[in-house]
Amino acid sequence: MLKIQTGENNAILRTKCNLVKKFDESLLKTIKDMEETMLAPDENNKVRGVGLAANQVGINQQIILITLNINTRKDHKILCLINPEIVETSSQTITMEEGCLSLPGVYGHVRRPSKVKVRWQNTQGNWCEKKFEKWDARVFLHEYDHLQGILFTDYLKKKR
Ligand SMILES: [Zn+2]
Repeated sequence: MLKIQTGENNAILRTKCNLVKKFDESLLKTIKDMEETMLAPDENNKVRGVGLAANQVGINQQIILITLNINTRKDHKILCLINPEIVETSSQTITMEEGCLSLPGVYGHVRRPSKVKVRWQNTQGNWCEKKFEKWDARVFLHEYDHLQGILFTDYLKKKR
C-alpha cells in the first residue's frame, strides 16, 4: 500500500503532473498499487476513497482512478484514466459536498459542471472518449484537478 500525501501546502499535491509516455509493466504495477491503496479499509472499515490521483500517493504522473456508478453501489466499477483531457463541459453546474483523502476531515460544497466529456489513454496507450454525468462527472473533475495541482478547498477560498 502506498502512503497518501496530505496537506494543502504539500508540494507534490501542488505539482502539475507529467504526461505518461511509457505504457509498460511498471505502469500496470503503479495502477495496481494505487487501486489497492484506494480500496484499503480505513479506521471505520470502509473503503478509503472513490477516486485517487497519482500525486496523492507521491507519483508525479497523470494517472487517475475513478469509481463509476457509486450511487448504485453494487454495479460500480473502477476506471483508470491516463493523461486525461477535458473535451467539453456543460454550462449547467451543480453544487455537491466533497471531501478528499489528502485533506482528512475537511468537507465543503463545490460548484462544478454537471456533465463533462473526457478523453484519456488506457493502459495500452489507446485513446478513449466518454461523457460523464452526475457523480461520475464530479469524481472525475475532482481527480482531474489533482493532476493540475488544484485542491477542492481552492474553490471554497475563491467564494469568500
Ligand atoms: Zn482529492
